[in-house]
Amino acid sequence: MSTATYQTKLLIGGQWVDSVSGETIPVTNPYTGQTICNIAAAQAADVDLAVEAAARAAPGWAALPAHERGRLLLKLADKIEAETQNLARLEATDTGHPIRDCLSLDVPRTVLCFRYFGGMADKLEGSVIPVDAGFLNYVQREPIGVVGAIVPWNFPLMFTSWKMGPALAAGNTVVIKPSEITPLSTLRIGELIQEVGFPDGVVNIVTGYGHTAGTRIAEHPGIGKISFTGSTATGRRIVEMSAGNLKKVQLELGGKGPNIIFPDANMPAAVGGSAFAIFHNQGQACIAGSRIIIHEDIAEEFLERFVALAKSIRLGDPLDPETEMGPLTSKVHQERVLAFVEVTREQGGTILTGGKHPGGDDLANGYFVEPTIVRAKASDRVAREEVFGPFVTVLTFKTDEEALEIANGTDYGLGAGLWTQDLTRAHRFAKNIYAGMVWINCYKRVHPGSPFGGVGMSGYGREMGFEAMREYTQPKSVWVNVDAQLPPFYKR
Ligand code: NAD
Repeated sequence: MSTATYQTKLLIGGQWVDSVSGETIPVTNPYTGQTICNIAAAQAADVDLAVEAAARAAPGWAALPAHERGRLLLKLADKIEAETQNLARLEATDTGHPIRDCLSLDVPRTVLCFRYFGGMADKLEGSVIPVDAGFLNYVQREPIGVVGAIVPWNFPLMFTSWKMGPALAAGNTVVIKPSEITPLSTLRIGELIQEVGFPDGVVNIVTGYGHTAGTRIAEHPGIGKISFTGSTATGRRIVEMSAGNLKKVQLELGGKGPNIIFPDANMPAAVGGSAFAIFHNQGQACIAGSRIIIHEDIAEEFLERFVALAKSIRLGDPLDPETEMGPLTSKVHQERVLAFVEVTREQGGTILTGGKHPGGDDLANGYFVEPTIVRAKASDRVAREEVFGPFVTVLTFKTDEEALEIANGTDYGLGAGLWTQDLTRAHRFAKNIYAGMVWINCYKRVHPGSPFGGVGMSGYGREMGFEAMREYTQPKSVWVNVDAQLPPFYKR
């Protein structure tokens, strides 16, 4: 396997530069606890330079024939695919994702996303609206200009493509800030962008902390739209900070995904699917199925199998192809997740398995948390608040009405799953669940063609598909008098 390579500087106007202040941030390997490298810590002044570069590049990029923008995105997809091994290794080292998952999900999904939006670039159509006699009205979709993108640490590579793909295809230029915790794959994408020949300034990458670089992106008057993925608390702050120039804001925030298992569910499929729903990526997914809502008649059988499966998950070195679960991405986050184990106990919940670091010499330095399954009441904190770890809360129900009430009983509304053989019930629930995405007899399916996002405290706006192209453009309505007698207002 090739050695991972990456940049540590800022990409501004086509140049790799240090931050103006010269300050840096250490990046840690969550398996070893060792520092991998130090990246530039962008401050407001660096963001300002990046926005200037993006603004200079914007007219030329928007004026390119759309198929030319698409061609560059397709070339980028090919480049990423050709270096799948390097990027997978980089992502695994920086985030703790098992390399098995990086190779089968993170990198291929990133390629698919850039390819999808590369193909989409020249398919963004306007419309002609039937209006009053004698007038032609057409609507064209125009790029917004400079887009600010703020990416979290849980899927840095994939989320970089989810934001850059549609933004660039639609003719915008980008200032992107990866999380200070996991910046390396985004920085590598910056190098590949240069290799395939994107014009300077079309993509600018500023690594830095949220409270410095992030806040400047949110408030910058030269940025027309902000696409944010992260916590609900930060999302709310972004809305406040962006009010100065009334930026368009798109928010992908937290979740507390209900995963409902009905008595007629295919049991092995529900057990395996529910494990993927919560344990993939150590549960660090906004769409994780973090609440199992199960009919009481099958709860015992399900839990016996589910606990056994959780106990058998292989924790280990993310770079080992046999590893099924890696460490959490940061120490602070590991502590946050373990604190929820105490909360469970304090509120009278039961830990069925997990709830601690797994121990063992080979795992000792990693930020691991065992796959954790708890039983609690629907009113308990662990049934309502996002844990964002390998931690699932089991709740039981007797009737369909009760299942729906529990499912809709949080402020979030992102992803939801259903396991049943009953078509009518499945569609009834799909209609009535408060969520942006519903999976029936599957969980966590995503595709660049299908809109991704939530409702309520999970945010607003959508990534992916035509919805994303709408998000990254604005409609302009043009009226033409083709044969109209204008009314005699103010005739002299
Ligand atoms: P976070 O909100 O702390 O950070 C996300 C990004 O925002 C990082 O790049 C960070 O540097 C930046 N940031 C932090 N404070 C900022 C500020 N004041 N102004 C501007 N930018 C700021 O979230 P996180 O801890 O990195 O990610 C985990 C959270 O994100 C979880 O709650 C999870 O549910 C959510 N999330 C949601 C989705 C989704 O698609 N809905 C996806 C991934 C993660």
